[in-house]
Amino acid sequence: MKSHKAVVKVMRPKEPEGDIAPLIKQVLEKLGEDTAREGLARTPQRVDQALKFLTSGYRTDIRKILNGALYEVKYDEMVVVKDIEFFSMCEHHLLPFFGKMHVAYLPNKKVIGLSKIPRMVDVFARRLQIQERLTQEVAQTIQEVARPLGVGVICEARHFCMMMRGVEKQHSGAMTSAMLGAFRDRKETRDEFLALVNKSTGY
Ligand SMILES: [Zn+2]
Repeated sequence: MKSHKAVVKVMRPKEPEGDIAPLIKQVLEKLGEDTAREGLARTPQRVDQALKFLTSGYRTDIRKILNGALYEVKYDEMVVVKDIEFFSMCEHHLLPFFGKMHVAYLPNKKVIGLSKIPRMVDVFARRLQIQERLTQEVAQTIQEVARPLGVGVICEARHFCMMMRGVEKQHSGAMTSAMLGAFRDRKETRDEFLALVNKSTGY
């Protein structure tokens, strides 16, 4: 008897593998490199994978992640997550910038699962960015998803495009901030946030 077993193919949206590699090979050749030498043989493939990882934030729906991690609470004190490390790439030079982000918000009946905040920072950092937009996107996303009374984000970063190219070597650190709602309107809220960020946690 003929089998009528259905063949189910699982279709997963997947990026084409290695499609950037030949382009990287061309770049290396343009730079005068011998792409056949041992050290470079697998480099196009590695760069392909690295670039896809470093831009994986484009393919992650952060709102979905956050919506699944909202909790009703009576708590109405400031929530602060400080010293969130991040690594991103500047969209002007495709060079890394990295640093720390401090995120705070004043809950309005809802809090976001604490681990989701560093996760969100990663999602936005793993895109081509400028520091100002990265800071704004984190603040605005919290505002939109959790509807808190206010959000404050401070970002300190060092930029390879300044450090490596010899531009402003001494001042390669930059600070940006985004203050929304109560953090913008109320000096006491902003001051409380800044005091908590500056206070050593003793760890
Ligand atoms: Zn740059």
